[in-house]
Amino acid sequence: MTARRYRWWGAFGWLLLSWLVPSLASGFEPEVVQVAGKRYAIVGEIGPRTPRNHGLNNTLGFVVTDEGVVLVGSGATPEGARLIEAAVAGVTEQPIRLVVNIGVQDHHWMGNSRFVEQGVPILALKRTVENQRRRTGAHLTRMRQQVGEEAETVSPLVAAEPIDADRHAFTFGGVEFELIWPGDGHFAGDAVLWLPRSRTLFAGDYIFHDRMLGVQATSPVLRWREAFHALAAMGPEHVIPGHGYPGDLAKAKRHTGDYLDLLVARVGKALEDWTDMEEVIEEMADAPAFDELKFFDDWHRRNIHQTYLQMEGQ
Ligand SMILES: [Zn+2]
Repeated sequence: MTARRYRWWGAFGWLLLSWLVPSLASGFEPEVVQVAGKRYAIVGEIGPRTPRNHGLNNTLGFVVTDEGVVLVGSGATPEGARLIEAAVAGVTEQPIRLVVNIGVQDHHWMGNSRFVEQGVPILALKRTVENQRRRTGAHLTRMRQQVGEEAETVSPLVAAEPIDADRHAFTFGGVEFELIWPGDGHFAGDAVLWLPRSRTLFAGDYIFHDRMLGVQATSPVLRWREAFHALAAMGPEHVIPGHGYPGDLAKAKRHTGDYLDLLVARVGKALEDWTDMEEVIEEMADAPAFDELKFFDDWHRRNIHQTYLQMEGQ
């Protein structure tokens, strides 16, 4: 075949494939990163939700066991969940047998319906499920703005039989797991999945790596900081964050814990000194330990502002 013909067929083949496989057309695929052994992170886009990334702008994960895959988080939409399923299939032939929901925010669970339809059970703590339900309307409104029409495909199914406890230990496929609520974090009702033997922590949105975390009105910053310290005290060796690439505890401290400490300490001091908000924001604007984090310029001042509002109201 001549080079020219080959190019023509190449382009045609690509078009055909793009039509058959929508994710190729969108060009977005989450990245699978092996954490250690049979434990993996699924790293979505480190940026905003967009139609292209199907709202999958966060990090999920999975564990391959002898009895199938335990998936931690299902993405923001059924199509996002399909991409997650494909990502898992890229490393193992084991089917997904259990989905654990540790996050209240959309991109941790709004793809559940794809797995429920296949008969895969969803496991979550009761307080996670209650907050997922409470936030469903707000999350869908935001998703419509960010991913557009695809938001209409979401069927917001939650765990059918949530666990009424703050700690739940279970064994699946020979692997020990613990679902733990360490206190509220980025959202009230968030939780973590802990593998005690390998000291692996699926930390969800308690921990952000590589990008600046966002303190929102729905993020109780004082409790989030306490929860971070509770997680650090568990001594994880491997941390799969809710956003960004996996790492160790030192990285989690550098990118999340130290920053929450800084916000709470500096804003707390400013409130004691009756310093007004604008002044604190100016004083804290330079934060060289964190300004390498992606979206520092977008979020840092907002975080100080939100921390001030919350702590002033305490
Ligand atoms: Zn998130």
